[in-house]
Amino acid sequence: MVRQLSLISLLLLCLGGHASAAVVLDSPVVNLTDFPMATFIDETETMAFEAVRSQAFTPSSNRVSLGTEARTTWSRIGLVNHSGQDLELFLHHPYAYHNRQVAFFLEDGDTLVERKVLDLDQASDSPLMYRGSAVYPFRLEAGQSRTLYVRSVSYSHQWFTLLLLDEDRSRRALIGSHIDIALLIGILLALIVYNFLLYLVSGMKENILYAFYLISGAVWIALSYGLLAQVFNVYGAGVFRLHLSLITMPIFLILFMMAIFETRRDYPTEHRCLQLMLLPLLADLVYGLFDIYGALKPASSLAALMMVVTVSVSISLYRKGNPLAKYFLIGHSCFLLFNGMAVLFYKGMIDFTYLASHGVGIGITLEALMLAFIIAYRIRILEDIKASQADLRLQALTDPLTRLYNRRHFFTEAGNLADIARQQKTPLSALIMDIDHFKAVNDSHGHAVGDRVLVELAQVLRSGSRSSDLIARFGGEEFVILLPNCGQEQAATVAENIRQAVADKAMDLDGGRQLHFTISLGVAELDLGAEESVNVMLNRADQALYQAKRAGRNQVRVYTGNGDVESYTGQQV
Ligand code: GH3
Ligand code: MG
Ligand code: MG
Repeated sequence: MVRQLSLISLLLLCLGGHASAAVVLDSPVVNLTDFPMATFIDETETMAFEAVRSQAFTPSSNRVSLGTEARTTWSRIGLVNHSGQDLELFLHHPYAYHNRQVAFFLEDGDTLVERKVLDLDQASDSPLMYRGSAVYPFRLEAGQSRTLYVRSVSYSHQWFTLLLLDEDRSRRALIGSHIDIALLIGILLALIVYNFLLYLVSGMKENILYAFYLISGAVWIALSYGLLAQVFNVYGAGVFRLHLSLITMPIFLILFMMAIFETRRDYPTEHRCLQLMLLPLLADLVYGLFDIYGALKPASSLAALMMVVTVSVSISLYRKGNPLAKYFLIGHSCFLLFNGMAVLFYKGMIDFTYLASHGVGIGITLEALMLAFIIAYRIRILEDIKASQADLRLQALTDPLTRLYNRRHFFTEAGNLADIARQQKTPLSALIMDIDHFKAVNDSHGHAVGDRVLVELAQVLRSGSRSSDLIARFGGEEFVILLPNCGQEQAATVAENIRQAVADKAMDLDGGRQLHFTISLGVAELDLGAEESVNVMLNRADQALYQAKRAGRNQVRVYTGNGDVESYTGQQV
């Protein structure tokens, strides 16, 4: 229980000659997560305790965010024990892990009772340090008042919270923290592993760039929200170097944008903007390898500039109709919103809230999820492009009405089949067929019915031949089938079967009428001995067809050689 005392009711304690509101402890249960204190920023960064205690402190809450300039910050807490019991107390500094040094000074009136300094570079073995939290234990006897000073020396941004707890609550506060951060890191780790696997399988470089972006984000989150300190018990200057991830993150994001939007190929202006933005980031990264503190100073300005560039580029891509830009903008807006909030928090311009202090982590994770969606969406776009390319290729090879191969493709393939026949000395035959009196069909039933006849015939040809046969619409109502591994006798049988199937077919017309039609066919076999071409064979098949027409149509004729044409009299198979 805490009572914050104000001017009238109240106990004003004289502490080092300065009046401050004091925290009155009136119960042995102490669980203070919200209490008044006062802060003083030592801009010289060198003041001794004796000099500091006579400075003017500014009243504040126990949670403060004071920006980048407040490197050395003092907090003062006045305490009065009205609980009627002696109290064992613990002052927690849960964000100690991102400090260079934390020191505690306990004062009784004007007398310094105790002074403890925790240097984070050598903190791993210190009894004051527990997995990232600095914990200062002290005793406050019944009726006693004391003043506690905490000096926090930060590497860059100064933000922290102090807690005052009894032994039981102190112990509990040190277990099971950071579950929220572990969850964010877990999400990012899963995405990292998945994208490495995707990269191994597909070789698409956006996956690997995205994975590196996620690694940078995950390292930064684990570092700056205390998970590394909590899990690995590491802090100090060596670990602080990992803040390089704050510079690699925008670098990988820009490289990712270049890859996913294919800016080099499709958007040269935007590509140049992104390249220009990369230059200062890369320079800062190199600088950071030697002096991370120096490199972090321009980092927030660079981050702001990068936001302007990436947002402008994605708006421009969106306006140029890039289908991914919309989603990128949505993800990036989440990142900007939460990051903007976090930047205001780090600069000490808005209150210390959970969302504000975790803004970057939440922003990174939301954007990461959106980028994962973009990668998936892009795969779909690439698949669609591939499918339409395959479609175009097929269209170039086939006749749109019957879906059979066209004349051009027929000749390409026929050449190959003839080569194989010559090499393997296997027979190759051709059928040429033409619809009988097709003009009359068109004239009496219309062109649409004529087209249907063509489609029906194509269907009969398909079902009457083997998958190895090459069927083509040669033009108009003339069709050709090339039959590999098939001599003219056998080919004539196939032709006769087709002729019969067509003759047996009845096509339903409007008004319950039916349409019958017939075809004539000519058959010829490739003369392997004479090394003749497919064209020569087709000419002979054509002569046979001509004979079939002359002989009355609806029949098969086989070209037998020496200019003879024979009518086919074989049995149906
Ligand atoms: P024959 O028995 O001597 O072959 O008589 P025919 O009427 O079939 O004679 P011809 O080969 O001169 O006529 C072919 C007709 O095929 C002429 C043309 O209008 C028609 N035709 C060609 N291509 C198409 C097409 O794609 N659709 C339709 N409906 N008709 C076509
Ligand atoms: Mg014709
Ligand atoms: Mg015809």
